[in-house]
Amino acid sequence: MSPSATTRPLNHAIISDCLPPKSHPNGYVTANAPPPPPAELDASALLFTPTTLVRTVPEPNSPEILSQSACTDHMITASWTQSQGWSSPEMKPYGPFSLMPTASVLHYATECFEGLKAYRGFDGKLRLFRPDRNCNRMLVSSARVALPTVPPKELEKLMKALLAIDGPKWLPKSRPGKFIYLRPAIIATHPALGVQKPKEALLFIIACFLPCLDEPAAVATPQSPVAVTPHCNRGLKLLASSDDMIRAWPGGYGYAKIGANYGPSLVAQASARERGCEQILWLFGDDCYVTEAGASNFFVVWGTREGGLELVTAPLEERLILDGVTRASVLELARERLCGGGKETVKVVERGFTMFELAEAVEEGRIIEAFAAGTAVGYLSLSLLPILG
Ligand SMILES: *Cc1c(COP(=O)(O)O)cnc(C)c1O
Repeated sequence: MSPSATTRPLNHAIISDCLPPKSHPNGYVTANAPPPPPAELDASALLFTPTTLVRTVPEPNSPEILSQSACTDHMITASWTQSQGWSSPEMKPYGPFSLMPTASVLHYATECFEGLKAYRGFDGKLRLFRPDRNCNRMLVSSARVALPTVPPKELEKLMKALLAIDGPKWLPKSRPGKFIYLRPAIIATHPALGVQKPKEALLFIIACFLPCLDEPAAVATPQSPVAVTPHCNRGLKLLASSDDMIRAWPGGYGYAKIGANYGPSLVAQASARERGCEQILWLFGDDCYVTEAGASNFFVVWGTREGGLELVTAPLEERLILDGVTRASVLELARERLCGGGKETVKVVERGFTMFELAEAVEEGRIIEAFAAGTAVGYLSLSLLPILG
C-alpha cells in the first residue's frame, strides 16, 4: 500500500511552504524539538547605520556641555527577550526610543546603568579607565533588579566600538586631556503592568559630555543643574543627610548602580544646593556612619591619637556603598605607594567610621584632608568645616 499523504515522511519539499526558510538545517522541525537557547549578546554581530546629520563638537564647558544633554553622533542598542535572548546589537544615529506606556521601567524602576570616561591622552591615544570593572559591576546591578545579564567582555567590546566610531571626531586630538562619559544602561521594556520579572529589555550605550570640573571657565548657568565652579580653588561643601533621607540600608540595594537609588536622593541633594553645598554626605544609622558623598565614595586622611597617619573609607561588606572603580584605584595606589614604612607611611583602612569620630578629629586638629572620589567628579578635595556646620 502506498503511504497516504498523512504518513509520508516529512521532507523538505513538503514543508517548505509552511516554514520560514532555513528554520532548521535539515529543513524540518519535529514537534518535540527544544527551542533554541536564548542568544547571548554577541558584539561581533554589531550592525552599523551611520548618521547623516552634520553636527559640530561643542566647545569645552559651553552651555551645551553644561546642560549635560549633548551626546555624540551614535548610540548602540540591543534588545532582549526572555525566550530569544539578545538581538544583534546595532550602532545607529543617536535619537529617541519608542516605548509602550506600560513598559516596566516606567513604573517599577527596572533599570541599571554604568558610567565611565573615555579620555583623549596627551599622547594622542584614546583610553578607557578600567572598563572591565564597570562591565563586571553592571552584572551585579542588573541581577539586583531582575534584568538580563550582559557578558562583561561583550559590553566592553561594544563600548570600544562606539568609541572607535565617535571618538576621533568628538574627542579630537587637538583637545588632549578631554574626556567623554560613556553611559551603558539596561531598561526593562516589557509592556505589562503586572509586577513581575520583566521578559523584555533594552541595552543602550550613549556617549555624553559632562562639565570639566577643573576648567576655570566653568560657571553655573540657568541650563546647568550643577554649580560648576573651580572646586580646586575652594574645596567642596557637603551637607550631612537627615534622618528622613537614608540612601541605603542593610539588605537594600545601595551597592547596585540602579536608577532606584538616585531618584529618591534628589530631594536631599536639592536641599544641599539650596544651602550652598554641592552634595549630600550620606550618613547611616543612629551612630551616623559616614558612607558616601553624593554619587561618589568618601575618604578621610587623619592623624591617629597614636601619632600615625590613616586613610579611611567606608567598607564594602555591609553593601551600603557602591564599589567604586575610583575608590578601588585610590585604595590600591595608596597601599602600593604610601604603605612603604618610614615617616610618611599611611595606613589604609576600610572600616565604618562615624560623624562623631570625624567631629572629634576636627576638634583635635587631626584632619589632614578629605575627598570624594568617583568617575563623574574626579577627585575633589573638601573643605571640612562646612561639612560639620
Ligand atoms: C557611580 C557611583 C560611585 C563612584 O563609582 P566609580 O566607579 O568610581 O565611578 C560612588 N557612589 C555611588 C552611589 C555611585 O553611583
